[in-house]
Amino acid sequence: MTTLGPINGEHPIPQHAIRSARIVGDDGEASVVATVYCPLKERSATVPECESCRRFHALHFDAASRTTSVVCHTERAMSAMGSADPLAGVSEHVNPAAPLSGIMSRDVICVRPEVTVDEVAALLIRHGISGMPVVDADGKPIGMVSRADVLRAAEERGDTEASERVSLHPDDVAPLDMEQGFYVYEPVKITARDVMTPVVVQLHESASIRQAASLMAYEGVHRLPIVSDDGKVVGILSSLDVLRWFGRSCGYLIPPGRRRA
Ligand code: SF4
Repeated sequence: MTTLGPINGEHPIPQHAIRSARIVGDDGEASVVATVYCPLKERSATVPECESCRRFHALHFDAASRTTSVVCHTERAMSAMGSADPLAGVSEHVNPAAPLSGIMSRDVICVRPEVTVDEVAALLIRHGISGMPVVDADGKPIGMVSRADVLRAAEERGDTEASERVSLHPDDVAPLDMEQGFYVYEPVKITARDVMTPVVVQLHESASIRQAASLMAYEGVHRLPIVSDDGKVVGILSSLDVLRWFGRSCGYLIPPGRRRA
């Protein structure tokens, strides 16, 4: 959470960065689920839910970081609850208890399992990322697909693996109006489901950075899908995100990465 203001001489108003999960289906269409982490409800809230909340103030776009936030009046309620900004002091001190909701990449590209590997490769290149969650119809992670998975699939597929050489019987040729000979069938489509690594590790957005770093190191993975209470993907944490957080926590000025790991 960051703060906006002061506005009209009053106290700064907290703002909560919007995370968007873009889920690409096998028709190439993407649906977007936009959420924020609500510190009062201690769970994810959709943007329409915020807009109908009595604490909602405005949507704020920050041109420098190119992020949009929900600005809302949570400061008095939080102080009344005795809560402190969970990210306070992170810029000056390493806080291993800092929640992932403020550290993860909030724009996450996801694919449905039926999306072809060729489309996955195109998305990886287009968005400058090296992996993405594979999600079910509810937006819950069922696997991770990485650049290495795509390359492995391409190597195993080769040029001819999925093609089939057939010779037709004369009786089969007539109805199809085909000459007798050799025919190459349409290559079998390899999908994200075929090459993904099934998700065995994921973390809730309220989990801490020390939990994430330990889990990633223990499992030997470079990226974790981050989920909300209902198990839906709301972000992704890469090993590079952890390094950026650490550098910033030590006081170094580190710009947002143009490419996410
Ligand atoms: S607008 Fe309401 S629901 Fe949204 S983050 Fe603020 S307090 Fe939570």
